[in-house]
Amino acid sequence: MIDELAAYEEQTLGCTRCALAATRTQVVFGSGDPNAELMFVGEAPGFHEDQQGVPFVGQAGQLLEKLLNGIGLSRTDVYIANVIKCRPPGNRDPQPEEIEACESHLFRQIELIRPTLVATLGNFATKLLSGKPAGITRVHGVPQQVMLGGNEVTLYPLYHPAAALYTRSMLSVLEEDFARIPLLLGKRVAAPAVIAEPKPDPEQSKVPELAVQLGLF
Ligand code: URA
Repeated sequence: MIDELAAYEEQTLGCTRCALAATRTQVVFGSGDPNAELMFVGEAPGFHEDQQGVPFVGQAGQLLEKLLNGIGLSRTDVYIANVIKCRPPGNRDPQPEEIEACESHLFRQIELIRPTLVATLGNFATKLLSGKPAGITRVHGVPQQVMLGGNEVTLYPLYHPAAALYTRSMLSVLEEDFARIPLLLGKRVAAPAVIAEPKPDPEQSKVPELAVQLGLF
C-alpha cells in the first residue's frame, strides 16, 4: 500500500478538480507514516502549509505536535491530512463544492493507509467522515464506529487545535480528549502533558454557581 499511496500522491499533485488549483502554491497531500494506526484529518492547508507542502506546520501544527508528544507520539508515528488539499484564499472556510471535488482524495488515502483510529480535527472533518450533521461541540471526545475506505474505523472527533489556540477552555478539553487516544489505540495510557496553565476564567467559574442557583444540578 505504501507504493500505491506514493503513486496516488504523485497523481494528486497536479489536481485541477476545483478552482483552488489556480490560487494554491502546491497541493498539500498529507504526511507521516503510510502504515499509521492513527490518522488525523484537519480542515485545509493554511499559509505555511501551502508554502511548505506539509499539513499542520503553522501554529496549530505546533500545538498538535505538543499534544502528540504528551501521549508519547510524534508526527512521524501518525498520518496527517486535511479534508481539502489546497489552501482556500485568505484561509476562508472550504466551500461545499471544494469539499465535494476533493473528498475522494481523502477517502482513497484512508483506504490505502487503513488506520484503525481516525481523529477528526474540527467541524469540517467530523461532519464529512461521520456523515452526520452533528457539530464538534456536541460530539468531541466520543468515539464512533464508522465504515471508511471499506474498513471499520473508530472515528474520534476532537476540537481543532487552531480553535483551541484562541479559547483556553477548549484547550483543556482538547488535552483531556487527546489523553484518551492511547486507550483507543489499545495502548497503556501515558500521563497527559500539561500544555498550558490556563488562568481561572472568572466568567467560566460563575457558570456552575449560576447553574446550581437555577437548579440545574
Ligand atoms: N493546517 C492544516 O494543515 N490544516 C488545518 O486544518 C489547519 C492548519
